[in-house]
Amino acid sequence: MRDLVIIGSGPAGFTAATYAARANLAPLVIASSVAVGGELVRTTEVENFPGFPEGVMGPDLMEHIQEQAERFGAEIVYDDVTAVELGGEVKRILLGNGRTLEARTVIVATGAAYRKLGLADEARLSGRGISWCATCDGAFFRNREVAVVGGGDAALEEALFLTRFASKVHVVHRRDTLRASKIMQERAFANDKITFIWNATVSGVLGTSEVEGLALTDVVSGERRILDVAGVFVAIGHDPRIHLVQDQLELTREGTIAVQGRTSRTNLPGVFAAGDVIDPHYRQAVTAAASGAVAALDAERYLAAQTTFASPLTAERSPALPDSLEPSAGSIAVPEIGAKAKEGSGGSALSSTRIRVFGADWCGDCRRTKKQLTDLAVSFEYIDIQRDEVAAAQAREISGRTNIPVVVYPDGSHHVEPSNAEVEARLRALALL
Ligand code: NDP
Repeated sequence: MRDLVIIGSGPAGFTAATYAARANLAPLVIASSVAVGGELVRTTEVENFPGFPEGVMGPDLMEHIQEQAERFGAEIVYDDVTAVELGGEVKRILLGNGRTLEARTVIVATGAAYRKLGLADEARLSGRGISWCATCDGAFFRNREVAVVGGGDAALEEALFLTRFASKVHVVHRRDTLRASKIMQERAFANDKITFIWNATVSGVLGTSEVEGLALTDVVSGERRILDVAGVFVAIGHDPRIHLVQDQLELTREGTIAVQGRTSRTNLPGVFAAGDVIDPHYRQAVTAAASGAVAALDAERYLAAQTTFASPLTAERSPALPDSLEPSAGSIAVPEIGAKAKEGSGGSALSSTRIRVFGADWCGDCRRTKKQLTDLAVSFEYIDIQRDEVAAAQAREISGRTNIPVVVYPDGSHHVEPSNAEVEARLRALALL
């Protein structure tokens, strides 16, 4: 039984973990199987997080925040939560690998998920020209025209980043004024490669196997037009990620988890919420981090009160590994990282095997995959598609997709945007672990 399980790995989740670890609560962070680090790992330069006068890249900032939590002993599980039972004194958290965790308190810091356009073609062409991450997928569109849909800070940030690669970036916005901050507007207006298409909504995405254009409708005149673009980056905001808890926790009218006053307390004792999942207004990295700190302090106080009133559940300390994560036969949840690292550095057969990872420096999922292979002491070649035009074409040819990371195994098989569990399963299947 854990004192505290934190669901979510953005600034709220990891800041909560730092506070909780320093309070000796031995927190376990369920970081998700792919989107580790939350939305910050999809952004470029963060200029307004305190303590970084020169700015800091979003993925770097998240790495720092995670390292800080780990330094004090927070444990991280790279898996998804598939279900929760939050009602009783003992909270149960079911993971994608089938295991169940038990905890006295839970902090829900699941953030917000990017919004979709809601078009029929979106799923079909997702990863085939439609993307939600310019820093990951932008290099596939070198010297091509692309569109960014949206008028907020995220849309302009995507557009500015894409000018590194694209010949032209069209920002398609449904109104004639932007929601983005003034500083971002000024930068975008000053950039020759960026043009704006005002009062336009996307009515369709054209292309059979990859994006060939956008069908736009002018909301004022009703006129329709085709915009010839090879890529579409959707940046139309986020919705709080509440699907796990919406039947158990009270929600606000805006669809966020309801908390009491300035605390992180939800309607259920022992369940706290933090970050974008409770915040329809501010949604900044720094406010999410602060909210994570509040949640950890609330959880600590709750646990202390339970102990004071002699709940039998709080008598014991958390074990180093939660019971339900102890390695068991056939389990892939907890790789024996230490053992493999020794084997790798000693020159296992693996070290001569060539695995290729196509990625980019500012792609959070690419960093996660690189870290996983490094931790497992698996020898691999890393190819940065942003530095090398030929590499981008190669990655696209192998995968047929415009997403990274692409992991190519020695037998010629590949994975696009794999979870750690998928990579590990494939390595085992190929007898590389
Ligand atoms: P926002 O909610 O700020 O903006 C979303 C944009 O998408 C709006 O312009 C909105 O239009 C448009 N939109 C929403 N739904 C649709 C739809 N269905 N079809 C077409 N357009 C749509 O979200 P962001 O992700 O841009 O930003 C979220 C938060 O993160 C903000 O607080 C922002 O300040 C922050 N952020 C800050 C950054 C920075 O400082 N560099 C970078 C990125 C994010 P409309 O305006 O008409 O509502």
